[in-house]
Amino acid sequence: ATPTALMVGVGRGAQQGILIKGPEALEAARTVDTVVLDKTGTLTTGRMELVDSTGFDAVASADVLRWAGAVETASEHPIAAAIAKAAGAELPSVHQFRALVGAGATGVVEERTVLVGNPELMANEGVAVPERALDWLAETARTGATGVLVARDGVVIGGLAVRDTLRQAAVEAVARLHRLGLRTVLLSGDNMVTAHAVAEQLGIDEVLAEVQPVDKAQTVERLRAEGRRVAMVGDGINDAPALAGADLSMAMALGSDIAVQAADVVIVREELHAVPDAIMLANRTWRTIR
Ligand code: ADP
Ligand code: MG
Repeated sequence: ATPTALMVGVGRGAQQGILIKGPEALEAARTVDTVVLDKTGTLTTGRMELVDSTGFDAVASADVLRWAGAVETASEHPIAAAIAKAAGAELPSVHQFRALVGAGATGVVEERTVLVGNPELMANEGVAVPERALDWLAETARTGATGVLVARDGVVIGGLAVRDTLRQAAVEAVARLHRLGLRTVLLSGDNMVTAHAVAEQLGIDEVLAEVQPVDKAQTVERLRAEGRRVAMVGDGINDAPALAGADLSMAMALGSDIAVQAADVVIVREELHAVPDAIMLANRTWRTIR
């Protein structure tokens, strides 16, 4: 391959808001057959909004929001941002905050231990999840929203549901990937039902959900071991190992710096069309060379 043609391809990418870190990425893009897309922040904007709050056993939903909000102000997760924003400014302070990656967050608020996160987190911390909470979670997931539980001193007191909006043109961009002959896979740490609801809206071929951040890289590795040539598209710190292990990696530039550093291609356009554009650009560049 002539380096000049590749450099022209890199230049053309830049004009389309697709920053290609090196000519090798263009070569990788040409051979990819599977595109793995992270859900939160990649297929969706990652700007979440609180859509429901509920209290169990006579706890007011406003109290649930207050306890959770106090903890989530210290977290950088998109779910936390939505909860903290809805909880307002007048919140008690949090001590001993800990982010539990891919599961939730915890801290001490007014001398009480507060836990916010998914049911697996509750189980891991020895908190019993009542039937009522499981029903509420299932109902929430069916609508495509994500429900998290709030526990205070080891007792689940309520649930908060957040919802994300799909990125602009996500449906069309996925359809274009299919027209290019690529198989699409949604990869998420979110629960199975919510992930399926989102995949269905987009027409995505395959869903891999409830994947812990540490296992995202392993999932990409497994697909490659099956003989697939994998492009990974992500945005978060938790996507960095998976990005590093893919044949081709793309990061949404508004995502975390670490994801952007790990990627071969950085999308500086607030739009998923850049993913099929990057693959088409690679194909076109290689045609001019041959
Ligand atoms: P994704 O792969 O969709 O970007 P993550 O791996 O970051 O998701 O998170 C997986 C799940 O862990 C979330 O859907 C949520 O249930 C829970 N979670 C993670 N961080 C938080 C938090 N700060 N507050 C509440 N729940 C959280
Ligand atoms: Mg993400």
